[in-house]
Amino acid sequence: MVAQELERELLALCQDLGIFIPGHFEVSSGLHSDLYIDKELIFGNPELFDRFCGYQADFLLDPGGRDTSIDVVVGPETGGSRIAENVARLLSQKTQRQVVAVAARKDGQGGFFLEAEDLERVRCRNIAVTEDVLTTGRSAAMTMNLCRDKGANVATLQAWFRRGQRTQSVAGVRANVLCHREFPLHEAPCAQCLRRIPLSQKPTARQLSPSPGQLILAY
Ligand SMILES: [Zn+2]
Repeated sequence: MVAQELERELLALCQDLGIFIPGHFEVSSGLHSDLYIDKELIFGNPELFDRFCGYQADFLLDPGGRDTSIDVVVGPETGGSRIAENVARLLSQKTQRQVVAVAARKDGQGGFFLEAEDLERVRCRNIAVTEDVLTTGRSAAMTMNLCRDKGANVATLQAWFRRGQRTQSVAGVRANVLCHREFPLHEAPCAQCLRRIPLSQKPTARQLSPSPGQLILAY
């Protein structure tokens, strides 16, 4: 399937599932957006999650489609690392070799670190870094630099979506994005601010909602 068809298909699925929510949202770094990407709906839908990650795994295959030069898939917590785990699993299935997933853990001070046992996993290895949505690219850049510092070769960066135009490349690596739909970002005050439209609430944990009749605990 050519890339554009794949992209159209993924975007149509996302539209059907209501993943793009119109409103007036504040995203990373205080920028404003007219659309919120409810990526948790993808994580919460195993079939769609596998499809997104499957396409990413396909992208990491060598020409011929049987092997990959990627040894380790690394993602920043929490979205990127969940994707890394699934992409590594699917890539292992497709190539019959062991592709490892590593999480770049949050250090609680805005940075990331690798667990001691993961340091050896990335050293001198070819790494693919995964992220869900690139907005400023900060988490992805920190993950990539962390891996490089530990002796890894960061071969590629993959993301599902990109917001704005700031992340064509991240930490010197071109970002490969599955869906190129435009999600423009605006400096505040944006046009909606000027019309005095209040900021919209982001959906939280909605996908964790149990079936009707069960108690929903908000937290
Ligand atoms: Zn605004």
